[in-house]
Amino acid sequence: MQELTHYIDGQHVKGTSGRFADVFNPATGEVQAKVPLANSEEMDRAVAVAAAAQPAWAATNPQRRARVMMKFVALLNRDMDKLAEALSREHGKTLPDAAGDVQRGLEVVEFCIGAPHQLKGEYTDAAGPGIDMYSMKQPLGVTAGITPFNFPAMIPMWMFAPAIVCGNAFILKPSERDPSVPLMLAELMEEAGLPKGILQVVNGDKEAVDAILHHDVIQSVGFVGSTPIAEYIYGTGCANGKRVQCFGGAKNHMIIMPDADLDQAADALVGAGYGAAGERCMAISVAVPVGEETADRLIEKLVPRIEALKVGPYTSGNDVDYGPVVTAAAKANIERLVQTGIDQGAKLVVDGRDFSLQGYEEGFFVGAHLFDNVTTDMDIYTKEIFGPVLSTVRAKSYDEALGMAMDHEYGNGTAIFTRDGDTARDFASKINIGMVGVNVPIPVPLAYHTFGGWKKSMFGDLNQHGPDSFKFYTRTKTVTSRWPSGIKEGGEFNFKPME
Ligand code: NAD
Repeated sequence: MQELTHYIDGQHVKGTSGRFADVFNPATGEVQAKVPLANSEEMDRAVAVAAAAQPAWAATNPQRRARVMMKFVALLNRDMDKLAEALSREHGKTLPDAAGDVQRGLEVVEFCIGAPHQLKGEYTDAAGPGIDMYSMKQPLGVTAGITPFNFPAMIPMWMFAPAIVCGNAFILKPSERDPSVPLMLAELMEEAGLPKGILQVVNGDKEAVDAILHHDVIQSVGFVGSTPIAEYIYGTGCANGKRVQCFGGAKNHMIIMPDADLDQAADALVGAGYGAAGERCMAISVAVPVGEETADRLIEKLVPRIEALKVGPYTSGNDVDYGPVVTAAAKANIERLVQTGIDQGAKLVVDGRDFSLQGYEEGFFVGAHLFDNVTTDMDIYTKEIFGPVLSTVRAKSYDEALGMAMDHEYGNGTAIFTRDGDTARDFASKINIGMVGVNVPIPVPLAYHTFGGWKKSMFGDLNQHGPDSFKFYTRTKTVTSRWPSGIKEGGEFNFKPME
């Protein structure tokens, strides 16, 4: 049995707490490794190493820091296949999807190569007689991030690349479900020239997270995961005086207007609903056709597409549409919610409950499900299922569909499919959701824009990546200086506006 490690001070370090979690191969159901779960002493050690290494890194000029990112991009491309394979083996997603996970992280690293420009401060010449004023963006010091299982490459990179290029040290506490790729990324960053101790990986569960939240030296915490944990981390981190941003769960609606191209909408729904087995925070989990006729035609188009989905292990390469879910517990939770849907009166149009794959009977595979006639009081509508289950809620009008998405407690992503520009503009303008697609089912913004939901999908003020990440990982200091006349006129006692 492989025993995974932490990555502290440039070395793989065995866990000393005596606690471990199982890391599965979700396709076979086998335990393939044990990951150590850190205690607070192990976290203390990583923080001490980070605090010692960070000042010299902050004093390294931004161009040199950016060059580490340039080299890192080259190494990610060199090792893309290896990273994707390791990712699929622990997560279960298909190989092309795993490569996409690495790629969407890599794009944020590319954006971070522009750090010298992003970190330029502001300067006002002659703000008063002989007075100049300038603002600097300085790193916070030691920063930390806690990441979910579903994007084990992309989300760590979304956090550590901007943190590090801004001159911070970063401690990553990845998901205990799929920790191998984060460890590989830390090694690659050092191969790219990053000094030891600037990026460390401390594996663990709640105990390691609490050690982060209560550590005085750690200045900021980034979190991505489920909403109850996001609320806990936001509350505790803020109460302890840290800068915190937390991104939580989702229930993303796609509204299909009667004028939409229904073939296009059905294709989009199948990819966005079932890709990665529905384990994406931007997955579409609710289809809202407007009008009975639209709904009937949409269901008619969806059923054969969903029944044709190929579900299998990543080792089948390009021949599968989606793989297993991450654990047996995740599978059981999905099955339980499907049963509540049936019990509460929704119509199960595509029933994936009997799905089984020969040779992989112990794998965590879940067949594709499609519900129709879902109502907004049902559990399958109110709760995040995080599996290959699409719910259809029929709306009578555009206003009803819009109101439905607006009333849901989550506000991560949404989409509208229509040929009418007026409707699309109205939707984009009114909706209280952070990321909006117009005829685009999964509107994940590119690296140079920012990513973040609204309502219970996000806690904090600044989004991930793009310009916001440079704000999150720096502090502004503003200097007012007077040189020519000094204080030779004598002291000043009144608080005056600039003359
Ligand atoms: P999770 O909340 O179970 O775990 C996320 C992280 O929190 C992990 O590192 C885990 O070890 C840690 N954690 C778990 N329980 C904890 C506890 N009691 N106290 C402290 N830390 C704890 O989430 P997950 O299952 O890994 O990921 C799936 C969830 O993440 C879904 O809800 C999904 O919507 C969400 N997600 C959101 C975004 C976004 O940007 N909004 C992106 C990806 C995933």
